Amino acid sequence: MTTRPATLTTSPLTPRVAAFADTLTGDDLPAYVYDLPALAEHARAVRAALPPAVELYYAAKANPAPEILRTLAPHVTGYEVASGGELTHVREAVPGPPLAFGGPGKTEAELRRALKLGVARFHVESEYELRHLAALAEEAGRTADVLLRVNLPLADEALGAAALAMGGRPSSFGLDPDLITERCLPLLAPGGGPLRLRGVHAHLASGLDAPALLAVATRVTDWTRHLATRHGLRLTEVNVGGGMGVDYSRPGTRFDWAAYGTGMADIARRNPDLTLRIEPGRALTVYCGWYLTEVLDLKHSGGEAFAVLRGGTHHLRTPAAKGHDHPFTVLPAAPWTRPWPRPGVRDEPVTLVGQLCTPKDVLARRVPVEELRVGDRVAFALAGAYAWNISHHDFLMHPPPGFHYLGGGSTPPQERSAPRR
Ligand SMILES: *Cc1c(COP(=O)(O)O)cnc(C)c1O
Repeated sequence: MTTRPATLTTSPLTPRVAAFADTLTGDDLPAYVYDLPALAEHARAVRAALPPAVELYYAAKANPAPEILRTLAPHVTGYEVASGGELTHVREAVPGPPLAFGGPGKTEAELRRALKLGVARFHVESEYELRHLAALAEEAGRTADVLLRVNLPLADEALGAAALAMGGRPSSFGLDPDLITERCLPLLAPGGGPLRLRGVHAHLASGLDAPALLAVATRVTDWTRHLATRHGLRLTEVNVGGGMGVDYSRPGTRFDWAAYGTGMADIARRNPDLTLRIEPGRALTVYCGWYLTEVLDLKHSGGEAFAVLRGGTHHLRTPAAKGHDHPFTVLPAAPWTRPWPRPGVRDEPVTLVGQLCTPKDVLARRVPVEELRVGDRVAFALAGAYAWNISHHDFLMHPPPGFHYLGGGSTPPQERSAPRR
């Protein structure tokens, strides 16, 4: 957090969001504003960059709002869900497409529900879970299609850049390779039994660039092919996970989907018998959302400027969770009408904080701004994923933000302001 670009205030709003922001009054803030046509266009471009052989699932945990799930529907093959709650919610919001059910610690009730709803794939995380699923499937008279989640050791170089490593080292996620061969395969003997082993799943890290993710995908598909050969198995699928990087310090840039698509086409050519699948979350939806608010107060302390915003990290926990300065744009607002001077800063670094009584409520630290005054609006970009839904909404009992899904029908703030769980 010591070096940063000269300014983080360079991520423009889309014209649709900018025009809508003008219609909001102070009482309508803070507000989450989503540009659904922009999301659709981005998802279309991602799909177009991928070879037809690669299936695209959306990891719902990044942003499970029904409007988001539905906007993505024409562009994705299916959805990855990681809890019974997501399973029920996604099935309801988008009834048609296939679901993959992953995540650690699946309960008996969740597994039963998944069997009943007929999820397309179970991503199995442990030997215990495999046995549990087999027993429940047997009891329900159902067949469960299984991918075993593998935790493959990776060279440190491969994960060095990863923001969130979930594997490639000791981890609570997935199965070590020898547990798969020694403990799981014997439970999955082909011909009969309630479980059908389709292949392998891996989600080893989040926040990787295209070359690093392609190296991981190559490693996982090679390992799967060798597993099939060594054990005489017919494995037909590999899900290489999500984790496509999003650079919050350069909000105008995007993950290199073109390079990734080309690399995945090569992997597909080398593995004609395997269906390849990916399940990104963040890199699909992060760009379509903004958290819009205003400066309530502005002051100096120890020579540093602090702007207090309406709202805070209880709505947008992303910068606190990831330890970054969240990119924002200043929208200068209405003339000053109070009879005393308007507090403001010009050409100096300012720390943007929220209304919470904790020093952790920081959205961006010492970021240079041209000008920022009380009453100005601030639009945080890259707030379409892991933003509202990872935040601790009820802490301090401030009012929730409004939610506006533009280009797909807008809901008045008060209607959507009930806590969303
Ligand atoms: C979180 C998660 C994803 C999505 O990760 P992103 O970094 O949002 O792309 C995909 N698969 C699994 C198993 C996950 O846990």
